[in-house]
Amino acid sequence: LRILRFVVLYGSQKGQAESLAEGIAEVAEEHGLVAELSCLNHNEKYNLEKETAPVVFIVSTTGDGEPPDNALQFVKRIKKKTLTTDHYKHLCYALLALGDTNYANFCNCGKTIERRLQELGAKQFYATGYADDGVGLEVVVDPWIEGLWKAIKGALSKMASDKADLLKGEAGKSPKGTPNLSIPVSTSAPKTQTGNAGVPQVSLAASLTCSLPPLSESPLNVPALPPAYLDVSLQEVDSVEQVRKDTLHAAPISRAVQLTRGDSVKVAVLLELDMSAHPMVTYHPGDSFDVFCPNKATEVEDMLHRLGLQDQRNHQVHISLLKDTKKKGAQVPSYMSKNISLLYLLTRCLEIRSVPKKAFVRALVEHTGDCVQKRRLQELCSRQGSADYNLYVRDSGLSVLELLAAFPSCSPPLSLLIEHLPKLQPRPYSAASSCLRHPGKLHFVFNVVEFPACSGRPAGRLGLCTGWLFDLINPVLVFPENDESSSSPALPKIHVSLRPNCSFRPPADPSAPFIMVGPGTGVAPFIGFLQQRKEKPEAIFGETWLFFGCRHRDGDYLFREELEGFVSSGTLSQLKVCFSRDEQEEEEEATTSAAARPRYVQHNLLLNSRHVTDILLKHNGYFYVCGDAKNMAKDVNNTLMEMIQTELQVDQLDAMKTLAGLREEKRYLQDIWG
Ligand code: FAD
Repeated sequence: LRILRFVVLYGSQKGQAESLAEGIAEVAEEHGLVAELSCLNHNEKYNLEKETAPVVFIVSTTGDGEPPDNALQFVKRIKKKTLTTDHYKHLCYALLALGDTNYANFCNCGKTIERRLQELGAKQFYATGYADDGVGLEVVVDPWIEGLWKAIKGALSKMASDKADLLKGEAGKSPKGTPNLSIPVSTSAPKTQTGNAGVPQVSLAASLTCSLPPLSESPLNVPALPPAYLDVSLQEVDSVEQVRKDTLHAAPISRAVQLTRGDSVKVAVLLELDMSAHPMVTYHPGDSFDVFCPNKATEVEDMLHRLGLQDQRNHQVHISLLKDTKKKGAQVPSYMSKNISLLYLLTRCLEIRSVPKKAFVRALVEHTGDCVQKRRLQELCSRQGSADYNLYVRDSGLSVLELLAAFPSCSPPLSLLIEHLPKLQPRPYSAASSCLRHPGKLHFVFNVVEFPACSGRPAGRLGLCTGWLFDLINPVLVFPENDESSSSPALPKIHVSLRPNCSFRPPADPSAPFIMVGPGTGVAPFIGFLQQRKEKPEAIFGETWLFFGCRHRDGDYLFREELEGFVSSGTLSQLKVCFSRDEQEEEEEATTSAAARPRYVQHNLLLNSRHVTDILLKHNGYFYVCGDAKNMAKDVNNTLMEMIQTELQVDQLDAMKTLAGLREEKRYLQDIWG
């Protein structure tokens, strides 16, 4: 059996790489293989220096191209310059890199590990997969895993025959480079297959709950059933003590101002928190704060009913590992505190709004009575039903409750929810103030996120945290002109904790020039930067430019007065604003042709190309981007590359290198989300 062994190592920030690695380890047996699973940082559990079995790496990338926390030490170790080029010459590996093309440095951690493995002599036995969360990891992950088994077996038999050759004295034939295996996956993420939002491509009659031929008649490749691993019981007790971990700070909301007007824009709100009870919490412009929100009470109630546990809401939840579980590396989720009630678990611990992963849908099949509904759930988690899953579940952000409502004969046990739902995460918001300008206060700005109605969601709903905040403050929300009347009734407290960002900071040297690009709520940290600057009038400042954009001058020009004030006081040298949905104003820009009118921040950057590139490339300046990761940050990046190409008269590759250099020097910085 020994020869059929292979090693699976993962580095995972949010658990996706980890659960893929676990999935591989779990089904290995079905392929007649034995997997040894370990997290990359647990180097006591594996030994790459001596490993002769095939090694499969599954690694994600986080932040600005950083390794996940649990892979940091490993990456550090293999980057050591003292390692020789034959350090891993005995090693054969395959690598699956997870990333998101909406962020810079796509799959950077996977690429770094791969580069080092090769520099250290390791040989690849299966082409690397680069899975893109921006279009759906499964597009690459599913075929990659499917092809992996054959590749592992190929690598194992190659090793066995090399060994036999060696014994026969024919060691001269030992291979150099990648063994010649057939590799059935492309090495880059294919384009998404989904159609226009909410419109099924197959036919208008298909929906979340109903499919049409050919899918409805197709045989299905349904993934293996994830093994159950938790034993959950409920116990009646007199009272359950609810403990909150207290790195959190309860801060009263002291102001709530609606910054937008009209229906044609996304509602944006400024919240001011009174932090005077937490003098130790000092933040800097560029930092963010985590806001801890509970799940919506009505949804928790619906979930309790759906589980048939409405009368046991105050019972204590006991969670332990199932004795005979087949799940490799099974653990009780570490964030599950002891002594919690069922109500607390559903309100504070589990993200009951999360979009069910395919593995969860697969597990739900086993708890569904009606056979039509069962078949549809099988389709949604199958390879053949991938496009439907993307369209009806992933892209519309369907929550577990919404899915359960659409499949009434599905009755999962509580343990399944705990096994499959992720931890309820706090939501980060960028500080939109400076402590110097507003001592004891913290401002942040948010857009109220809206999910429109779709198949499976009869009525639209708001984002979890932004919807919760909006409900909290709605009774006292004021417009800026009424902001001074401080007679607002007492507002509730919310729990926050600081998330320092050590790189997204104004330049340490105040005389360094810099450019800020922050459309919409992306302007938040720059308000902090500029407030801080204004409070230090004695310093000698370099040139500062801000590129802002929104839909309508009169609808969502956030912080207009304050920004114009920064210009008049000389704090801000140039303010470039564009409106994507306003008609051209005749009195202004009469000389600019309609075609040249900037609609988005990147158009304004292009119009000022020479200045921007001079600041960056001739005067050692800085370039900051904040806001939407999906479109804006990418467009800005492409425009910047185009500008460098034109201004320096270089080709695309050189422009990319210049940008990479700026990133490396921390002079091109992003704080993006979405
Ligand atoms: P959820 O119920 O969690 O739904 C989230 C879904 O809505 C996501 O799948 C996404 O597709 C979509 N979504 C997320 N954000 C937006 C958005 N802004 N507009 C439209 N759709 C969206 N948000 C701010 O408004 N202001 C900030 O200053 C801010 N700073 C951030 C700083 C960092 C470092 C990060 C990582 C995120 C930041 N965000 C900011 C985003 C914020 O944390 C939340 O993701 C956002 O408010 C949605 O939370 P929710 O619980 O209401 O939505």
